[in-house]
Amino acid sequence: MQIGGLQKLSLIDYPGKTAAVIFTQGCGMFCPYCHNPQLVYPELFEKSLDEDEVLSFLKKRQSLLQGAVITGGEPMIQRNLKDFIKRVKNLNYAVKLDTNGAEPEVLKSLIAEKLIDFIAMDIKAPFAKYNLFYKGSVKNIADSISIIKSSNIPHLFRTTYDKNILTQTDLEDIKNLTAPSKHITQECGK
Ligand code: SF4
Repeated sequence: MQIGGLQKLSLIDYPGKTAAVIFTQGCGMFCPYCHNPQLVYPELFEKSLDEDEVLSFLKKRQSLLQGAVITGGEPMIQRNLKDFIKRVKNLNYAVKLDTNGAEPEVLKSLIAEKLIDFIAMDIKAPFAKYNLFYKGSVKNIADSISIIKSSNIPHLFRTTYDKNILTQTDLEDIKNLTAPSKHITQECGK
């Protein structure tokens, strides 16, 4: 795992749980409003944190924290994500994964092994505008939405609203993509 940061306590990132937040390095998207470029562009990466030290921190906080949020960047491009999550779950943490949805096969496999307790997926735009954020196939995004919706795992979809990129009609289209699941919109910069 390439871990670029650790937030030792969050009361807002995992709904209903106190949590530590683990930030992974690397992402296959290039959102213009990205607030974490140091987790996206390799030339901006800081020295990775040692995975064992992160796990040792979680072990020490077992009695205080209920969840671990794995976010990025994009966690699903990490080669040993599955083993890392298994080690976190062995410490009795519930695991929430934040994703951009570009890796449906990884997602499917993590769900099949019951390694995720909560999923939050960002929906960047209606499919016709995804090329402003992502060079890959929008089928990946569509597949991830459908996998998450049918997973029976607590989840939500989120959209960052940048008025220079998305219209109100776009937001309606996104809501239609994600319905009937919960979808939240956050204004860029707020
Ligand atoms: S998917 Fe997230 S981390 Fe990646 S570029 Fe977009 S906002 Fe940044």
